[in-house]
Amino acid sequence: MTDFPSPSDRPKAAKSTAFALFRPVLFAVGVIALALGGLVLTHRSNPEIAGLERQVPAPPAAGPIVLVDSEPAPPLTAAELKGSAFQGLELKGFQMKPPDPAAEPEPPASDRYELTLRLERGDTVEKMLADIDVPEADRKQVAEKLQTLLKKKKLATGETIELLMQTMPEQPDAPRVLSLSVRPQPEREYVVSRKDDGTYDAEEKTYKVSPRIVRVEGERDGSLQQSGIKAGAPSAAMVEFVRAMSYDVDFQRELKQGQKFTVLLEQLVTSDGLVTHPGRLLAGELRVLKRTVTVIRFRPQGGADGFYNPQGESVVRSFLRTPMDASKLTSRFGMREHPILGFSALHAGVDFSAASGTPILAAGAGKVSMAGYNGGYGLYVKLQHTQDVATAYAHMSRLGPGIKPGVSVRQGQVIGFVGSTGMSTGPHLHYEFHRGGKPVNPLAQKFAMRATVGGKDLARFQALSRQYLNQMKSAPAVADVNKPPQQKTSQAPKEPATPQVARGD
Ligand SMILES: [Zn+2]
Repeated sequence: MTDFPSPSDRPKAAKSTAFALFRPVLFAVGVIALALGGLVLTHRSNPEIAGLERQVPAPPAAGPIVLVDSEPAPPLTAAELKGSAFQGLELKGFQMKPPDPAAEPEPPASDRYELTLRLERGDTVEKMLADIDVPEADRKQVAEKLQTLLKKKKLATGETIELLMQTMPEQPDAPRVLSLSVRPQPEREYVVSRKDDGTYDAEEKTYKVSPRIVRVEGERDGSLQQSGIKAGAPSAAMVEFVRAMSYDVDFQRELKQGQKFTVLLEQLVTSDGLVTHPGRLLAGELRVLKRTVTVIRFRPQGGADGFYNPQGESVVRSFLRTPMDASKLTSRFGMREHPILGFSALHAGVDFSAASGTPILAAGAGKVSMAGYNGGYGLYVKLQHTQDVATAYAHMSRLGPGIKPGVSVRQGQVIGFVGSTGMSTGPHLHYEFHRGGKPVNPLAQKFAMRATVGGKDLARFQALSRQYLNQMKSAPAVADVNKPPQQKTSQAPKEPATPQVARGD
């Protein structure tokens, strides 16, 4: 058997931890790529941008924008604030032009244009507005109003500022700010807008965040994880999906290109359609050669989230399929001619050949009942898992760190290393599985040893499982719902229809 997936979650867990650490960097790289791609106009890049109409929507803000190589701008001191950005109306001798709406007929709509600018390091909103030739009185007012909304908060370097501008025929070089909006968090937007009398209003808009269930369908093309990301699933959800599948699916034998999969995700979305969480895995389905494997997220009462098959069995086995990472089954359980003794006898376990020194893992959590030399078994470890179940490991070259009778071990812990001690023809692991004190075929035990949903949890699990199985066919596809948010100039966002709420826990 060369086809076991990794029996231990450790390498995968390490990978996903590394990935989680790497993710902010990826995100930052993405943000920078977007910026370089010209999606975000930098107000210093070209004075002509003041006249450019916005061609493309701003990139969706999935969180605070992080710049890799720029330190945060130092906070402004009181002295710096005075005489700069928000000093505002202290300017002497300045008089606001008296409002005269009759003298200003509504200009044609083409005089209006949108701008998306980014705050540079050490930048202020006022400086930014000065760079695009907004008259001093206006820019001071806008900046001051915005600061009243932000209170003591400071906008981050890289923050996106959306502007609706207007040029007046009589003053083509002094554009007006009709509105300025900034959304430092998906659920909070600050808007400063111009009133008819030329003064500015400040408003804080809040958006409700609700869960939304979506479906991602894909076909395997390359790795399962990459195929899912390509189809629109977040990578963290795909990591979970692959891990949940790995207990049941033999990735080497059963997985082929072109196989279809579906994952069901719970996203968090603001009331105006901005996705604040790309999606937590609720359920998934993978069509392999002769069957469909389904996993359902469920949290039993008083327990932790886990994945279950639709029959309510945990995907996690109480025992590993094989107590080694890289191994080859070379001799099965049952009667055979003994390779050294030369007569027929019961082979009371299974043999896995592996290089000398390959770590041997505890097949399940338990207690070491024996650890040491044991006749023909050579260096040998026996683990007692329950009163009824024990496993044994023979021909080791040495014991794992700290392994001695009486100590507890976790599933997947290294209990020893492959060798050829005792009656052995070469480096291999002889592995036995005992029930009620008698050796049984370890490979026949694999389906019997799973935790199952029971008792009070059962009805809840069955309802949830039915719901998810339906939603994997009927929930909106992620490609249809993950559209960029509505343009800022449109009417106030409408509350969406009551979202479907997943309570998988
Ligand atoms: Zn053997």
